Amino acid sequence: MAAREAMNLRAKERELLVRFLLPPLAVALLLFSPSVIRSQSAPISPQRGWQVPSGTPGCSVEKSCAELAPAMTKSALGPSPLEENLRYLSDNIGGRLTGTPEADRAVGWAVEALRHAGVDEVHTEKFTIPVGWTEGHTAVEILSPAPFRVHLTSIGWSPPTPEGGITADVVDAGNGDDTGFAKAGATVAGAIVVIHSNLLRTWEDLASQYPADEQIVRRAMNAHAAAIFWMSTRPNMLLYRQIRISDGHLGPLPEAIVAREDAERMARLLASGQEIRAHLEMPNKISSRPVESENVVAEIRGREKPDEFVILGAHLDSWDLGTGALDNGCDAAMVIDAARVVHASGSLPRRSIRFVLFTGEEQVMLGSWAYARAHRPELDNMDAGIFFDSGTGPVTGYTLSGRTDALPAVREALEPIQSLGVKQFTLDAGVDTDNFDFLLEGIPTLVVNQEPANYILNYHAASDSFDKVDMAQLKRQVAIAAVTAYALADRAERIAPRQSRAEIEQLMKDTGLAGEMKAEGLLSQWTSGERGRQP
Ligand SMILES: [Zn+2]
Repeated sequence: MAAREAMNLRAKERELLVRFLLPPLAVALLLFSPSVIRSQSAPISPQRGWQVPSGTPGCSVEKSCAELAPAMTKSALGPSPLEENLRYLSDNIGGRLTGTPEADRAVGWAVEALRHAGVDEVHTEKFTIPVGWTEGHTAVEILSPAPFRVHLTSIGWSPPTPEGGITADVVDAGNGDDTGFAKAGATVAGAIVVIHSNLLRTWEDLASQYPADEQIVRRAMNAHAAAIFWMSTRPNMLLYRQIRISDGHLGPLPEAIVAREDAERMARLLASGQEIRAHLEMPNKISSRPVESENVVAEIRGREKPDEFVILGAHLDSWDLGTGALDNGCDAAMVIDAARVVHASGSLPRRSIRFVLFTGEEQVMLGSWAYARAHRPELDNMDAGIFFDSGTGPVTGYTLSGRTDALPAVREALEPIQSLGVKQFTLDAGVDTDNFDFLLEGIPTLVVNQEPANYILNYHAASDSFDKVDMAQLKRQVAIAAVTAYALADRAERIAPRQSRAEIEQLMKDTGLAGEMKAEGLLSQWTSGERGRQP
């Protein structure tokens, strides 16, 4: 059903494009030769009101990155379609769960915006996710000791409750460790378990949460719980959506995030010796077959080795309670504007730059995994991947995810943007964002490091909206991303060779990535060759 709605909506978007966008393009085609059009890319919706400055040079001369960096920075920090692009994505399209019509509209938005950024070529690449999912009308009724309203939302890709819902006791399993479950004992069987949480404050809290949650779900399954109520990790009734680490299939049992204050109230009632009985309805809508989605890919062709390439990537999809501005609309708009900046520089790097907006990231990088699989035959030609997915806190540098061998080259190449904050390089690797599958293919990846600012409070939450974006900082991210991509693509030598499977395996051990993948149930995908460089 979702797919059919998506098709209808896409037809509507196309109609809008034809009505409003094609006529000016047709006029432009009549007036200018193709090479002139490329350099003058007429501004059209969705970046209404923004004009390409006259005299923007075409891609014809080559300068070193160090020479170009100041001009690129100026272009990034100056007037641009960035803000209006992001506003449109956040407010007009909104939350965009992969496989829904909103995500498809976001793909259309990205294609148009990239075209107007002046890249050589834009296309989409289809892939399928195993199951389409949207939330139904989630509700819980407290039957005893006395009714009170509980605010909650299903986690992503949670199975629906059975027809008629679940009527069960609510029991407290503490923070979900062995002690908590042991204390709750046999009462967990058939019950809804409340799991306490600490407030989420730091990147470290976030990184440790996912593997810990996996273990808690396993304990709940072993104790035959009927469902899980996770106490929200954010205060003030804030709800958010997250997902059980998986390969895009449904989770093992119904799970909901419950407003922190409501979960605390239930815990206090239970602690005072009262029994709570509740009726839970979570009629999530599940597709009967795999659902199609698309990555958006644009390219600026290199001048010397056009078949070799660097990817500048961010994810376009988001969770759906908020409008996905910090995660990761800001960087989707940023990647598009970085393409504009590189194009407007008037120079071409030695190798090509691919600007890729992935969908399916929130379902554990399904889009970038699909991209890596589909492009395996040419991955020897991929020199590096650069990924942004951390909101708009000040940039501190990049993590090279264990690639010490790439460190000297990266440090030297990014010298021109030290003043923008790119100073520290770290080596931590995690199951965090779209670099994951490229890392497992042996390709050097850079993932931006940023101060958390307001990212963690609003992470995946209903409050992740356009007003949270620090636009001045986002413009600095455009400059950083554009110069990074250009600098790596323009180097005489690649920053580091592609690793063999044995070398990747060693990296996974050295960085602790293997341990995290094991805890999250992902290691078997590597071992079986399903994910990562082929044995
Ligand atoms: Zn993200």
